[in-house]
Amino acid sequence: MRLCRSCGVSIASAPAHFRYCFPCWRETAGQVRASAPTAPDLGVTPARIKQLIRLSHPDRHGNSADANDATAWLIEVRDKLREANP
Ligand SMILES: [Zn+2]
Repeated sequence: MRLCRSCGVSIASAPAHFRYCFPCWRETAGQVRASAPTAPDLGVTPARIKQLIRLSHPDRHGNSADANDATAWLIEVRDKLREANP
C-alpha cells in the first residue's frame, strides 16, 4: 500500500505518481512558494541591473537582436524593481 510520505495516510487510490496526500502536497507547495528567492536574495539590485544594461547595450554589440532583446528585458526588470520599491 502506498502511503503519504509526510503523514502516512493511505494514498492507494491516488494516481501512481503522487507521493503525498492532497493536504500535505498543498502544504509543501506553500512552503516552496514561501521560500522562493526574491530579487534581492539573488543579488538583482538596481545597481546590478544598471551594470548589465551598460554591458548589454546595443551600441556595444553592433545593434544585434540579442543585445536589443536583453537590454529591453533588463529595462523592464529595472522598472518593475522601481515600482516594487519606490
Ligand atoms: Zn499526508
